[in-house]
Amino acid sequence: MKRRPTIAFAKWRLAVHLAETQKVQGHAAMPAFQCQCELCQSWQVAHLHVIPTDTLNELRRLGVQVATPNELYALSSGPGQREARAIYHVVGKVLSGPSATVFDKALAIETANYELLRTEPWFAVRVTKASESVAPSPSIDDKNAGDVIVIDCRFTI
Ligand SMILES: [Zn+2]
Repeated sequence: MKRRPTIAFAKWRLAVHLAETQKVQGHAAMPAFQCQCELCQSWQVAHLHVIPTDTLNELRRLGVQVATPNELYALSSGPGQREARAIYHVVGKVLSGPSATVFDKALAIETANYELLRTEPWFAVRVTKASESVAPSPSIDDKNAGDVIVIDCRFTI
């Protein structure tokens, strides 16, 4: 068995260390660990509807425990739809795919590069190395396993 199988996720190709990836699922040091808030509680079922089916299957293939993200929070709230963010982690290498940042000509700065996976309801994702992200990320003991990779999902809920 290959130690780090290559697995497609959206427009990315990741070499995933499956054993180390299991260790960073539902991680005790992460903000959403055993969180009892309404959003985290409802996510147990809601993720099945919020995440596009193809993306859900790809996340499972990566070894991600989709019901228990390491971070989950609402960015906005109101009477209608709200925007929320779910963060998952895997361990391995990003082999190819869209870059983590893109140059915004209007603002003249590098901004986070989210790939739109579905327009309605809106769902976008960004893949970065944890070392290039400000999101809280678990650390790993086996440095030969690869990088901690952040799968950063934003959507309306
Ligand atoms: Zn919560």
